[in-house]
Amino acid sequence: MVRGIRPHVEGRILRRLESCPNTCRPLAMTPRLELQVEQSRGKQVIGIKRRAKRIVLQLDDGCAFVIEPRMTGLLLLADPPDREHLRLVWRFEPAAGQGDLWFWDRRGLGTVSLFSPAQLERNLGPGKLGTDALEMSTEMWLSFCRSTSRAIKVALLDQVKVAGIGNLYASEILHVCGIDPRRRASGLTRREIQGLGEATRMVLLEAIQYEGSTLSDGTYRNALNRAGGYQNQHRVYDRAGESCPRCGGIIRRIVQAQRATFFCDQCQRRPHRRKS
Ligand SMILES: [Zn+2]
Repeated sequence: MVRGIRPHVEGRILRRLESCPNTCRPLAMTPRLELQVEQSRGKQVIGIKRRAKRIVLQLDDGCAFVIEPRMTGLLLLADPPDREHLRLVWRFEPAAGQGDLWFWDRRGLGTVSLFSPAQLERNLGPGKLGTDALEMSTEMWLSFCRSTSRAIKVALLDQVKVAGIGNLYASEILHVCGIDPRRRASGLTRREIQGLGEATRMVLLEAIQYEGSTLSDGTYRNALNRAGGYQNQHRVYDRAGESCPRCGGIIRRIVQAQRATFFCDQCQRRPHRRKS
């Protein structure tokens, strides 16, 4: 989402944040809309980045918009799926060939906050979010796994330990490296952990690459919302009962920590425990 939007938004001056006319129930905004409008008027966007599942629009006064798209929220430069679920628009000072930034959210579960520097530190600063999954070294993966006896699938979703792996990707990653999602993180071998790191990189880069390919029209849709897209590339996610693309085994669905997990119990088998 961020990569495609960045060149259209960074460096621009915010003329006004506005809510879009609609009959939906209002979005959760902190502070309320009027205050966000007032506090952000005339500020320059100096950066846009992703922090786990949030998007941070950094302003030149140290404050930042923090947008959590949740289930159905999208940040868009053009072409919303429909107009009745458009929620907010960041209107910028006009610039040649560049428009405004829209927040569209069908279910309206997304949130938009305007954080002061202190609030940013408190909510997204060190200790609140783990290292971005794409920046983890093998040593970091080792200490991450050694630190918890939770099931590896559950551990991968802990944004405080490692940031940026969503539920869909956790299943995909474990399938790529052939690890049973129910295994204890601390019980993985060094070799398996190395494979886990490589699979994470591969799956996340694949997803980013896919996003990149949707950007020619200036539009971004996230993995769960776009028509076709990464959905069609899933190996196991949401494919319970289908056959595994690697070994032909049957893909199973289980629930771990209230989230669905998909895996193949042929090629992601728990290792046999040998008594020594
Ligand atoms: Zn398989």
